[in-house]
Amino acid sequence: MARIGFIGLGNMGGPMAVNLVKAGHAVLGFDLSAAAQEKARQGGVTPVDSMAAAVQEAEVVVSMLPAGRHVRDAYAGEGGILESVQGAALLIDCSTIDVDSARAVHEAAKAKGMEMLDAPVSGGVAGAEQGTLTFMVGGGEQGFEAARPYLEVMGKAAVHAGAAGNGQVAKACNNMVLGISMLAISEAFNLAEKQGLDPEKLFEISSQASGSCWAMLNHNPVPGIVETAASNRDYEPGFAAGMMLKDLRLAQDAAQRAGCSTPLGAEAAALYGIFCNSGYEGKDYSGIYRMIRGDWF
Ligand code: NAD
Repeated sequence: MARIGFIGLGNMGGPMAVNLVKAGHAVLGFDLSAAAQEKARQGGVTPVDSMAAAVQEAEVVVSMLPAGRHVRDAYAGEGGILESVQGAALLIDCSTIDVDSARAVHEAAKAKGMEMLDAPVSGGVAGAEQGTLTFMVGGGEQGFEAARPYLEVMGKAAVHAGAAGNGQVAKACNNMVLGISMLAISEAFNLAEKQGLDPEKLFEISSQASGSCWAMLNHNPVPGIVETAASNRDYEPGFAAGMMLKDLRLAQDAAQRAGCSTPLGAEAAALYGIFCNSGYEGKDYSGIYRMIRGDWF
């Protein structure tokens, strides 16, 4: 069993670290928040009082941090992971961050002779708790194979997306599709209802026709259609609109840097920006249906 240093024990990282403990690994965890440290301790993680203490003797380092600047600081900053690790640890960053930061941290790790993976996840807090996340992984084949046993403990699937940063590219592209899909569904179900077509009837038809998509089948924004959808719980997340906005902005950042036109992605980012700035960033992302209807909470 491995000695693992876990950095960032928040809503996602906390339960992921606990799942590694349950699989028999020795996990030393560090978070700036005392409450996060305490919660992870209750799950069997050993809390330590610095990043260096968590990673010094680690064979594997896993991080789950808010954004690119946190990840850059944590790995390449003074007293950070790359300075503190003593052996040749395998480094796995599971945060959702911008592609450039991911690639910069890969380069810094490579310069120190360390194997690094960007491995953002899909599946949310429930997936982190249940160990059913999907990992999209960028980095070398050898590192991916070495990481597989740990990823399998925290998730149900891990796909190697290719070179450094490609995990983040996959995450940004996937969630751009999800955001655009949710807006398309919201417009269609609203139009149907306003024209006298029962939304349930539209679902019965579209779910078996060419308009069907994952968001319609699983996160339908109209209450009463898909039992498990957040629309039946007053749009409590689920997947918060603020998180969707973050991911859409990461996709726009990647598109601009690549000189790539993504007009629908840009529109989705703008619309989710209005929704979040109106005070609904904590609602499920499917709640944007109410904004499209002009029928706010
Ligand atoms: P969170 O805010 O609950 O957790 C982040 C934790 O990092 C916090 O506890 C914070 O104190 C800690 N932290 C920040 N800087 C630190 C540092 N320098 N050292 C140690 N700890 C530090 O956020 P979360 O929901 O757990 O999300 C984490 C990442 O996972 C984000 O990149 C997010 O986009 C991604 N993600 C989240 C979800 C979700 O549904 N919550 C789903 C998929 C991906």
